[in-house]
Amino acid sequence: MRSDVVVIGAGVQGCAVALRLAQAGREVLVLERSIPGAEASSAAGGILSPGVEAEEPGPFYELCAASLARWPAFAAELERLSGMWVGHRGGGTLEVAFDDPTARVLAARAAQLQGHGVEVEVLDGDAVRRLEPALDPRARGGLWFAAESSVDPRLLARALYLAAHRAGARFLGGQVHRILHDGGRASAVEHQSGRIEAGAVVLAAGSWSALVEGSGLPAGAVRPVRGQIALLDTRPPLLSRVVFSDKGYLVPRADGRVLCGSTMEEVGFDRAVTAGGLRGVLELAIEIAPALAGAPLLETWSNFRPASPDGSPVLGPSTVPGLFYATGHTRNGILLCPVTADAVAAAVLGRPPPVDLAPFHVGRLAGARGR
Ligand SMILES: Cc1cc2nc3c(=O)[nH]c(=O)nc-3n(C[C@H](O)[C@H](O)[C@H](O)COP(=O)(O)OP(=O)(O)OC[C@H]3O[C@@H](n4cnc5c(N)ncnc54)[C@H](O)[C@@H]3O)c2cc1C
Repeated sequence: MRSDVVVIGAGVQGCAVALRLAQAGREVLVLERSIPGAEASSAAGGILSPGVEAEEPGPFYELCAASLARWPAFAAELERLSGMWVGHRGGGTLEVAFDDPTARVLAARAAQLQGHGVEVEVLDGDAVRRLEPALDPRARGGLWFAAESSVDPRLLARALYLAAHRAGARFLGGQVHRILHDGGRASAVEHQSGRIEAGAVVLAAGSWSALVEGSGLPAGAVRPVRGQIALLDTRPPLLSRVVFSDKGYLVPRADGRVLCGSTMEEVGFDRAVTAGGLRGVLELAIEIAPALAGAPLLETWSNFRPASPDGSPVLGPSTVPGLFYATGHTRNGILLCPVTADAVAAAVLGRPPPVDLAPFHVGRLAGARGR
């Protein structure tokens, strides 16, 4: 078997890169050992927030902002191609402080971000509660990133798979054991079904990327960081937008469900949902919005963030000709999906990338051992 491009992994990164390459007329084969989207991509909160996640201006913030700017058109395109709603919702992100020192820290960060042209409003406690009346009356202030949004990752993962499939990408089940190199170039993969020749290989295997032999990733470049989530039901909907505190977040869906997250745990590939993990996310949820104490618990789950040592993704060309990366997205793979798709596809096609990929090159991680 042969394909112009072989993509390893059918999470949101693999599917989105495959979509762009298929749209550019390339023959694309996506190899997925499980069900497309079944891992981190379906487990995520779906927060699209450069303001809270990137914290300070710099290349990572710029990448996040470039991706956020793509989201409205990306969601509309996916909905057109797949025939599905992906749950993209505005309303912004609200970061809340429950004591005066934290409120002062937030205000100082807002001043720094505003100095770099970021749209963020500093709110006092009353203004915070006007925006979200269900928040604890002890809220002392907060930041509102009004231009930010959220998406439903389960719908997104499904829509991306459908869109890539309809654009002509082929999907094949089964594990990739290794990337094969020939004359110093990535030229094939050893798949469960046998050898598959490839004009180019894109590694998008999430937390498992460094486990694929021949990946060229330094030890510790991508490791799993477990996150546990609890899903609550509220009727009528209790919240209108994503709310962060310094301990975690709430992500309301349009139908009233509220996703509460999340732990950051270094436990390898242990998928357990634990009593202690759930206690933490539920305490945090009730601290932010006390009425959630009465909300039915619908579902719990965990999965693994593909974490890089500096929290930024590993994107674009590797040090081996023919091998490209779309991995290491850590906490922001949903936010970064549209820009990853455009930038990695451009790299594979030999076109100028739409953003500077130098800060996200694997070379920065040489000697990485993980944090
Ligand atoms: C609890 C939690 C909350 C999160 N919240 C957010 C959020 O609010 N906002 C945000 O932007 N991001 C969030 N993230 C991060 C985001 O989910 C990830 O960064 C993103 O989904 C990574 O996408 P991916 O396609 O690289 O990985 P994955 O979705 O994990 O996909 C990788 C795929 O590769 C396949 N694979 C692996 N090895 C092989 C192999 N050898 N052969 C074949 N297939 C293979 C796997 O089966 C899997 O399907 C969250 C993550 C978690 C865990």
